[in-house]
Formats: sequence, C-alpha cells, structure tokens
Amino acid sequence: MPQYDVIIIGGGMVGASLACALSGQGLRLALVEAVELETRSEAGYDDRAIALAYGTRRIFSGLQLWNSLEAAATPIHQIHISDRGHFGMMRMDRSEEGLPALGYVVPARVIGQVLAEAITKIPELDIFCPATVTAVKRTSGAAEVELSREDATATLSTRLIVAADGADSPVREQFGIESVATDYCQTAIVTNITPQLAHNHIAYERFTESGPMALLPMTDQRCAVVWTVASDQAESVMALDDADFLASLQERFGYRLGRLERVGHRQAWPLRLVQAKESVRERLALMGNAVHTLHPIAGQGFNLGARDVAVFAEVLVDAVNAGEDPGSLEVLNRYGDWRHRDHRNVTVFTDGLARIFTLPLPALGVARSAGLLALDFLPPAKRLLTRTTMGRSGRTPRLARGLPL
Ligand SMILES: Cc1cc2nc3c(=O)[nH]c(=O)nc-3n(C[C@H](O)[C@H](O)[C@H](O)COP(=O)(O)OP(=O)(O)OC[C@H]3O[C@@H](n4cnc5c(N)ncnc54)[C@H](O)[C@@H]3O)c2cc1C
Repeated sequence: MPQYDVIIIGGGMVGASLACALSGQGLRLALVEAVELETRSEAGYDDRAIALAYGTRRIFSGLQLWNSLEAAATPIHQIHISDRGHFGMMRMDRSEEGLPALGYVVPARVIGQVLAEAITKIPELDIFCPATVTAVKRTSGAAEVELSREDATATLSTRLIVAADGADSPVREQFGIESVATDYCQTAIVTNITPQLAHNHIAYERFTESGPMALLPMTDQRCAVVWTVASDQAESVMALDDADFLASLQERFGYRLGRLERVGHRQAWPLRLVQAKESVRERLALMGNAVHTLHPIAGQGFNLGARDVAVFAEVLVDAVNAGEDPGSLEVLNRYGDWRHRDHRNVTVFTDGLARIFTLPLPALGVARSAGLLALDFLPPAKRLLTRTTMGRSGRTPRLARGLPL
C-alpha cells in the first residue's frame, strides 16, 4: 500500500495552495481531487472574481506564486462602504495602511490555473485526479484513505489527512465531526458589468434593502458584482433580461460609476454559514470551507482558508523538523488553537454584517449609518476593521510575512 506523510483531500484553492506550501520539505505528499483541475487559459468577460486580501497576496508571495498572478490582478486602492437611503458611509484607503493596495481582485480561473500548474511540478506529490475519496479510517499510528478512480479503487496510507474538501466535507462527516449549518435564505447573484466611468480601483460595498452588493474593480474597466437577494426573489432577478437587470442594479447602486452599460452571464449561489465544531482530530486536520463556509459579503472565505494553509504548513514543518509525529493530536492542536481566534473573529464579523445589514427595520438603518460614520471618524476602530479584513491581525505566520517556511 502506498505510504504518505500527508494526504490532502480536495484540490480546490485551499487544498492546492497547501500542496504548494508543503513542497520542498522532504514530505511524501498526495492530493486527491474529484474534478479535473483548472487548465483554461483564455480570459473571458464572465471570469468569476475573487478578492484577495493584502495578507493573502503575501502568502502567495511566500509560495512563489504571486508573480504568476500579478498580471491578472487589479489592485484595490480604496473600499467605499455605504447604506442605501441612509447618510452613513465609510472609506478605507491604502494610504492609511501605508501599502500599495488593500487587496487585489483576481479571476478565480487564473488562481486555479496557476495552482494547477504549480502542483503538477512538485516531484514529491502524487496527484490522484479525477478520483473520489470514498472512505477514510484511522489505524494505529496512521490513517487510510480509499479512493475510486475510473473503474478502479485504491487504498493509501498516511500519517496525516488534511480535509480541504469543501462545505459539505465528506471527510468531516466520516470522522464524525459535527457542524452547524445556517441557511441565510439569501442567494448571491454573481456577474460582471462595465460601467460608464472608470472604477479607479475603488471597491464598493453597498447595503440595500434587498441585500448587500459589492462591486469590485477588475481589468478592462469591468467590475465584478456580487449582489445578495432574498432566495425567494433570486429566480425572478435571474430571469430579468439584461436591460432590466442593469436598471435594477443601477437603482440600488446609484450613479457613482455613471451608467452601468454592459452585463455578462449571471450565476446564482445560495448562501449558508457552515461551522465545523472541531478543526482537528488525531491524524486529521480540516481547513478552508470544510471548517468555515462564510457569507461572501466581505470576500473573506478564501482569505481565511489561505491563512489556515500558512499556519498549518508552519506548524507541520516545525514539528517534522523537531522529529515529532505530524499526525499527533499534540501537533495538530497547535494549528487548531492558533486558528481559533481568526476563525471566530471573521465568522462573527461576516455573519453580523450579513444579518444587520439585511434587516429592514428603520431604527437599524439609523444605527447602521451611525456605526459607519463612527467607524469613519474613529481611527483605531477603523484600523482594527481594516486589519481584520486584510488578514493582518493577530499572530502572523512566516508565509504571511512573505518569508519561506
Ligand atoms: C459568490 C461567492 C463569492 C466569493 N467571493 C470571495 C472573495 O471575493 N474572496 C474570498 O476570499 N472568498 C470568496 N468566496 C469564498 C471562496 O470561494 C471559498 O472560500 C473557497 O473557494 C473555498 O475553497 P476550498 O478549497 O476550501 O473549498 P472548495 O472550493 O469547495 O474545494 C473543495 C474541493 O474538494 C473536492 N472534493 C470534495 N469531496 C471530495 C472527495 N470525496 N474526493 C475528492 N475530492 C473531493 C471538490 O471537488 C472541490 O474541488 C466567495 C464565495 C462565493 C459563494
């Protein structure tokens, strides 16, 4: 039976980033992914965008991947937060942080492609793809992973399993780790638009009575739109023709960017919060959406997962270098304890935003406006918010400081 030090289950953005982080460390690695890896290289108007916090850019720099992403990345110089129909607003600016950008908007296709290319070049990594993990079990001092691939099955042995297998994490379930799932009864409608005026690298977060919307600056003067609507209205919004959809968006967003002129293909994502009650067990660590699936209101999901990767890789490599068993609970608890606070803070922050800014009560509107104004005028509070959303609060792992492991 093939033996590994670490088997990563799930080759999405988090699992593939982890494979890159663990490369060159003398570990025998495997990655199992059910779906073919991203290989599309042609850019399209409809590319889905991911907002990367500045801290995530540093992690990608530490992984030697930022150079490959940078050409497709649009820097965010300012974030403008407002509440439709109310006076409050808040601005965050890169100059307040003394950084070249607060974050970057990068097509998910490009991130997928860069990661896919990088992992195929790791000599000590065996990639099983497309292959589906059908069972996992702990044995004495190790764990076994069963997978099915085309018509064949295989069993692999490992000292440690990393479950980066998404919100429904079959591995989490097989280990009997409970999770709490809350349906927001909201759907994110995702598309790209071209406004009449230049976006000037400003990301807009606007709270409207029908739900929050984000307009993120992209290349070619496009903006990526994430518009949250009540799920019972999603079908009718999706069914609007382009002109009516743009008019509806314009009514809620206003004319800060002039007329909204072109819209691409739309996709609908039902939203839920999923929190695993534990992030580690002996021989198992969870990361990314498998441990926290968030509302996309502040674009935090992958950023939080990237920080999981940076911390986990550091804990693991230090433990292995010190001659410890990487799958022992003692080692894995260091990862779980380190990540606990960031998970809790970002979850509370995004969940709170998703709820408070979608409740239509008039008194809340005033409170929200006052809150936004207060944040704008209170530098320490605003700085804390900026640093949390940029992934720069708390103890920073080496990769997030742009340093090698
Ligand atoms: C509308 C929307 C907008 C978003 N915008 C942002 C943003 O701007 N910034 C940001 O940081 N985050 C954003 N997010 C969140 C971000 O997309 C996720 O947090 C991130 O993609 C999670 O990555 P992951 O690798 O943990 O999970 P996934 O992407 O779900 O990957 C899990 C992988 O595991 C594989 N898998 C599952 N089961 C098995 C099995 N049994 N065997 C083998 N493989 C298996 C799956 O095929 C999949 O590839 C957004 C989310 C949404 C819905």
